[in-house]
Amino acid sequence: MEQKDIAFVVPLYNESAVYSILIERLNKIMDSAPVSMQVILVDDGSTDNTAELMTQTALNDDRYVSLFLSRNYGHQIALSAGLKEVKARHAAMIIDGDLQDPPELFFEFYECLKKGYDVVYAVRKKRKENVFKRMAYFIFYRVMKNMASIDIPLDSGDFSLISRRVVDAMNRMPEESRYLRGMRSWVGFKQIGVEYERQERAAGDSKYSIRMLVRLAYNGIFNFSEYPIKFIKRMGYLSVLLTLIYFSTVVVKKFIWGTVPVGFTSLLFMIILFSGLQLIALGLIGEYVLRIFFQVKNRPLFFIKDKISDRKFSERID
Ligand code: UDP
Ligand code: MG
Repeated sequence: MEQKDIAFVVPLYNESAVYSILIERLNKIMDSAPVSMQVILVDDGSTDNTAELMTQTALNDDRYVSLFLSRNYGHQIALSAGLKEVKARHAAMIIDGDLQDPPELFFEFYECLKKGYDVVYAVRKKRKENVFKRMAYFIFYRVMKNMASIDIPLDSGDFSLISRRVVDAMNRMPEESRYLRGMRSWVGFKQIGVEYERQERAAGDSKYSIRMLVRLAYNGIFNFSEYPIKFIKRMGYLSVLLTLIYFSTVVVKKFIWGTVPVGFTSLLFMIILFSGLQLIALGLIGEYVLRIFFQVKNRPLFFIKDKISDRKFSERID
């Protein structure tokens, strides 16, 4: 296959409901784009007929590469698998398969790329989701902003156009728990945000459970922030300080008035409070230790079951 200029990377997990609209819109973009393009579809272990649809598409159209992961690994890993597959010369465009990120924005993003930006990321103006989810996102991104040791832009997801060298940089980052928008920020280069209005899903239901969202948020916090650990240290100092103050007032009281404090309740309260704080502290440290544990195992991030490119199944998959 001739080398293309730009690659779309699209993770799909049980997306048969949106599939035909997705392909239609991608084809339209590829037909009218001023550059040559390919699409890398990643099946993240779908249990509906997404994989069959992807097989058809890739066998009929050599602009499509279909990757099939050995099981469901999750959105971030599916994207990472897709990024590893990018052979395009200039850049890769990351989008969600449900068309919440309008792929047509490529044209606008591409203008920025031409101006010399390496990362063009989309910034959500307005979310068309329920109030609870919107609020959770709002709070998370702002907490993250204050905690992270790198500057992660507010309200931006994975939706972005990234240059070849940023793709290479991200592919070289071996971390096991992946938070791509953080990694994309971390690599540096010239970055710019472009505002857009996030759409509702074209069809089907969200494939992200609340649990997965929380895990993603955790990865964002513990992979990019030393703040929790620093917070523990500060709490430690503070509690020592408070104890010293308390202790000296008791001593002073004893020498002046000669009364011994009776406060059992306050004692109990202090014990419970500080055991609680210690448990929280251990938990926070545990989060980092857990990440070290998973990383040192050094497992491959994913396994690919099948791959179709150039309209045929690949014989060897690495
Ligand atoms: N996705 C995936 N693996 C998963 C969950 C989701 O590849 O385990 C894909 C999904 O098909 C979609 C994208 O990731 O293309 C974003 O997922 P979704 O739209 O369900 O998330 P939301 O927009 O609700 O946060
Ligand atoms: Mg979605």
